[in-house]
Amino acid sequence: MQKLRLDVLDDIYHLYDDFSKGLTVACKRGCALCCTQNVTMTTLEGHRILQYLISTGQRDLLQVIRDTTPRKRFKPVLSTNDFAAFCLRGEDPPEEGYDSSGIACMFLLHDECLIYGQRPFGCRCFFSVRECAKDASAVVDPFLITVNTVFLQFIEHIDRGGLFGNMNDVLMFLEPDMHRKHYETQMTSDNTDDTSNIYDSPGLAQNKPIPALLIPPKHRERLQPILKKLGELAT
Ligand code: SF4
Ligand code: SF4
Repeated sequence: MQKLRLDVLDDIYHLYDDFSKGLTVACKRGCALCCTQNVTMTTLEGHRILQYLISTGQRDLLQVIRDTTPRKRFKPVLSTNDFAAFCLRGEDPPEEGYDSSGIACMFLLHDECLIYGQRPFGCRCFFSVRECAKDASAVVDPFLITVNTVFLQFIEHIDRGGLFGNMNDVLMFLEPDMHRKHYETQMTSDNTDDTSNIYDSPGLAQNKPIPALLIPPKHRERLQPILKKLGELAT
């Protein structure tokens, strides 16, 4: 039997946490300007969060999300591997409608994350070398952008057949028992080559296998040790 996708996801998170321990960044506990409702994730990561909320009696938070999710939020048109496929074909990807309203994430309370141990990769990988000021962007090392992109590609790859989108949208999609059970059946299947999508879901992109890794030539050699470990985990 193949390793369960959630176990692979945990291994990938651990690998990234080990890597990120060595980074020099301005991020510290209680600094939370980056915690907005524009975070994206896969259904696999959403399922992990939902399991946690349900098992800790916090399912009512989902109703709060459903009732208060702002109309303005980042809703990606493409998944990371869709974007890679455009690059591979030498085509321009469609414009993404970024949102700059910066409305705080529903899981942020007193500048602390209520689901810190379960937060998706989009939160785990967000580091700035300079402390962010309001209305100013984070400053991210280009090598870190490459590492993060490759991790995103692998996470999407192991959740192929699932969906990708705004964190709130993914959670709202998975919240009904019927959707979640259907997704669980697919997630625990041995057939990881099944890339059929679980639902037609407006507002969410379909996850795809990796078409090619987005690694600039100047980062290839430095990335090899991480790539080797990722490859062992995700295949
Ligand atoms: S990315 Fe910016 S706002 Fe977020 S923790 Fe780091 S320094 Fe703070
Ligand atoms: S899930 Fe947690 S870490 Fe991620 S944006 Fe929300 S509060 Fe911040």
